[in-house]
Amino acid sequence: MSIRTLSTDVVVAGAGLAGITAALEAARSGVDVVVLSLAPVGFGSNSALSNGVFAGPTSTYTIEAYIADTLKAGGFLNDEGYLRRVASKALTAVEWLRSLGVNIVEESDHYRVSPDRKTQPPGSYLMSVLRKRLTAYPRIRVFERTLVKKVLLDGETSGSVCGVVAFNRSGDVLNISASSVILATGGGAALYKRSDNHKAIVGYGYALAAALGLVLYDMELVQFYPIALAEPGLPALMLAPPHPPGTMLRNSKGVDLIEKYGLEQLNKAVRFQRDRLSLIIVEETSKNGGVYIDYTGVPSSFWEIPPLCRLARIRHDFRRTPARILPVAHFFMGGVKVDEQGMTAIPGLFACGELVWGLHGANRRGGNALTECVLSGMWAGRGAARWAVSSGTSKISSEKMCRASICRNGGIPATEDKLTRIKREIRNIAWDYAGICRSEDLLLRGKNKLLELFDYISRVEVNDSENFFLLEDLKASVITLSAVIEGSLIRRENIGSFRRADIENPPLSRSEFHSRLVYEPSNESLFSRSGR
Ligand SMILES: Cc1cc2nc3c(=O)[nH]c(=O)nc-3n(C[C@H](O)[C@H](O)[C@H](O)COP(=O)(O)OP(=O)(O)OC[C@H]3O[C@@H](n4cnc5c(N)ncnc54)[C@H](O)[C@@H]3O)c2cc1C
Repeated sequence: MSIRTLSTDVVVAGAGLAGITAALEAARSGVDVVVLSLAPVGFGSNSALSNGVFAGPTSTYTIEAYIADTLKAGGFLNDEGYLRRVASKALTAVEWLRSLGVNIVEESDHYRVSPDRKTQPPGSYLMSVLRKRLTAYPRIRVFERTLVKKVLLDGETSGSVCGVVAFNRSGDVLNISASSVILATGGGAALYKRSDNHKAIVGYGYALAAALGLVLYDMELVQFYPIALAEPGLPALMLAPPHPPGTMLRNSKGVDLIEKYGLEQLNKAVRFQRDRLSLIIVEETSKNGGVYIDYTGVPSSFWEIPPLCRLARIRHDFRRTPARILPVAHFFMGGVKVDEQGMTAIPGLFACGELVWGLHGANRRGGNALTECVLSGMWAGRGAARWAVSSGTSKISSEKMCRASICRNGGIPATEDKLTRIKREIRNIAWDYAGICRSEDLLLRGKNKLLELFDYISRVEVNDSENFFLLEDLKASVITLSAVIEGSLIRRENIGSFRRADIENPPLSRSEFHSRLVYEPSNESLFSRSGR
């Protein structure tokens, strides 16, 4: 184990689409950048798993129509000013990707990444192009398999950013001085038992931001993606749209659910009504024993092209046998508030990508996350570079440097087995107590279970680097899930993304209420409500 000290202008935590964009834009602005990523750059991210759909106005879809659709899907909880900025610049995001060599085509009301080989997953193609650009850029240094544990401020409890503490998988400590830090750590949906996210996406950014005293907004608004495999022995893989003509969604009695529930069309419901469709699938499953996607009536030509040609690698005979499905936790609409430069309320701390709150309201319209990653990444990268230039060199003071071994902290020894069991428990609590259908009783029970786990993991000692990483995963998961639960207790209405079964009021189509939480751990709660 070694302890290293480095200095740079801008640190970027995370290397998915938002982090890579931010790093490239900061470096292009003429500053030195260090990128720290838990996984290999571009991969180990949701960006690499994505379907490569970018929502935005097109030649046949006006800015006003795009804004109206996004607001309607989001129950008007969206930050409309932010949405309008994104709407006016969506084409810039597409052009930016094209300028880096990404093949991206226009399709009616969105853009779609188009890999050279049709069987190549679009997200993986996108990230491999961007990875090459990032790693070849002269002023960017990359540290992979490295976890950002703490963002440091120059004051005791407040002040400007002065750097980060990070650890790599060999247990080396990195103390990195920087005037600007950009959090691009993605969302947190992998903390749920059923999730289509990369397994590392458990909410590190929310936990890092919360530890600095930042307000977390609307954390209860977790989007569930309605159609993901639920066949025994197969992964909970999302079945990507567009579902071709002839695709049916049926319950176990063979009833067509799109017709039964008066939905306009399957693909439209997947894009704009993910919450409603998820709830229908969960309720049908509990009443009638299961819901199935049935591709048996799809004309044979559709099996040669995406998305169905990509199903060939899955051990299920989709052409002949309907597949059982259930929703999965997919996306966090809540998060951290930033200004027009991408800066949070802490001077020098920036955020971008899924971590950022505001665009999506109560239910994200499909395709808006990737557009937001590029635009918020550009704004944060340029803003962080400007901030670094104007504020001059930062240095971590010697008393703030981390010199501690990851192995010894004098706590209760914990084995990998025990930590893995706790991880399973957290994922179950998320799914069972903070899932698609919630109630005060369920939420309070989930909250108490989490408080017990938090108490335990705060006192645990680990003895090697692998367990250290596992423990950090548990801490981020518990803090993030606590925010989801606390926010759900506050939101006493049904506006979207999840249903409060104990609230009698009919579902709303519009709301103005935002939950705001600050991290103040006590015996009763990890978060308290913020008036700001
Ligand atoms: C299956 C699937 C399909 C999707 N398809 C679409 C789509 O077609 N269109 C759309 O708009 N949206 C889609 N989404 C949503 C979209 O992909 C994500 O919201 C988006 O990619 C998030 O990008 P990001 O850069 O913010 O985070 P991510 O891409 O998740 O990257 C996060 C990065 O942070 C790193 N990291 C995390 N914590 C730390 C830490 N503490 N220290 C260091 N590094 C850290 C990770 O290793 C990773 O590099 C999809 C999501 C999924 C799961």
